[in-house]
Amino acid sequence: MAKVADFYSINEAQKPADKRVYHNNDACPPGRDIPAHERRAGTNGYRLCEDCARR
Ligand SMILES: [Zn+2]
Repeated sequence: MAKVADFYSINEAQKPADKRVYHNNDACPPGRDIPAHERRAGTNGYRLCEDCARR
């Protein structure tokens, strides 16, 4: 597990605002499931993903 630069999925915008998250860990399962073409750098103002926060 390693901390990486903040990233988020463009599909977060489809979720309710309070469910949107960003990731910053390369071992995070939902983060790893985001295809490269759906990733964007940064947090976009979202909260940190719970899986990322635990690692
Ligand atoms: Zn995550």
